[in-house]
Amino acid sequence: MKEWNSPYNPFNSIKAVAHSERFNAIINEQYLPPVVVNLDVTGECQYHCTWCHHRSKQVRSQGMPPLSWRLARTFPYFAANWKKNGHGVEACCIVGSQGDALLYEHLPYLLKGLHNNNIDVGLVTNGYGFTDSLIDSAVHYSKFIGISMDAAKKSTYDSVKHCPDDAWDKVTSNIAQITDSLRSNGLRNDVGYKFLILPENYLEIYDACKLARDLGVRYVQIRPADLPDTARAKIEVFEVEDQISEAINTLEIPGVFEIAGVRHKFTNDFRKKLPEYCYMTPLTVTVTSDGHVWPCVDRRCDEATLLADCGKYGWSALSDVWGTSKHVSIVHDVINCGGSGPECNIRCSNYGYDVLFRDVFSEKDAMDIRLI
Ligand code: SF4
Ligand code: SF4
Repeated sequence: MKEWNSPYNPFNSIKAVAHSERFNAIINEQYLPPVVVNLDVTGECQYHCTWCHHRSKQVRSQGMPPLSWRLARTFPYFAANWKKNGHGVEACCIVGSQGDALLYEHLPYLLKGLHNNNIDVGLVTNGYGFTDSLIDSAVHYSKFIGISMDAAKKSTYDSVKHCPDDAWDKVTSNIAQITDSLRSNGLRNDVGYKFLILPENYLEIYDACKLARDLGVRYVQIRPADLPDTARAKIEVFEVEDQISEAINTLEIPGVFEIAGVRHKFTNDFRKKLPEYCYMTPLTVTVTSDGHVWPCVDRRCDEATLLADCGKYGWSALSDVWGTSKHVSIVHDVINCGGSGPECNIRCSNYGYDVLFRDVFSEKDAMDIRLI
């Protein structure tokens, strides 16, 4: 049985200590294959969310193609067999590149292929395109299913998502069907109700947690959105904190239903944080549906960081370039601006891993890691 206030949940960056050999490989610039491949599979989406996560240098609706069948068909084998010193790819996060993963026709093949090759799958979606058979595939072959909700009621959902009129009813019903199916099949429930804090929705966080519990999900994942200052100023942080505390105190059931706020990647007033130096991108890699390979998940489509083109040259283009001088140079010269540190004007998914690296693995050795 999990304890109250346990820090051990999927959203805590401390989990990266399990990959300490990769941290040491990064120190020595001998990169091991990434733990996770973020695989974007489609350019289509039925929604037009106000704060679409495709931002900065990415522009929506530029006709990103779906992942080719050639790349989809060969990906599970590639991922399972890309090894160095006994380390390989362990998970794949399937999302959409400027689109929603459920619209990708080869999604069932990918989910099953990855599962059968012992690669954990995280499926992140708006949840609208689920059919009975896609739910069946997702339930049996995904480790984590994250549904971006950002609301507790239809009117808010419609106002931030700009989605079809039936979307709220359909998505909430799909979530209930997913959690029912997990329960009736005796499968582990790792379904997440994802909630980005926005000016339009921050007063309904408690209600969203309540709804999520009623729908049977395992986690509510709440985090600030990457907003311009004017929009961020409209959010009263104490209202957010009060609701999260109340939800944790009155709704949580340890091990069954938990609420995780992702605060460590943001300041107290919800500004994004950047690491002093960006070392940790080689823990993951991101492939957009055109087959282009990017070292940082948040800087997809930033041409200055383009690592390889698997669309043209196949998956070997990724394993061939990984850890080469070209890769190391993109990390130090482009991402870290020639050594002075990153200046990315964007939310940083890797912030927590870089702090862990700086404080625990580097010569700082803040935890005396050998003296356990
Ligand atoms: S559902 Fe996802 S891809 Fe579609 S508009 Fe919203 S954030 Fe963008
Ligand atoms: S957002 Fe910038 S600092 Fe953060 S991981 Fe990406 S490249 Fe590095």
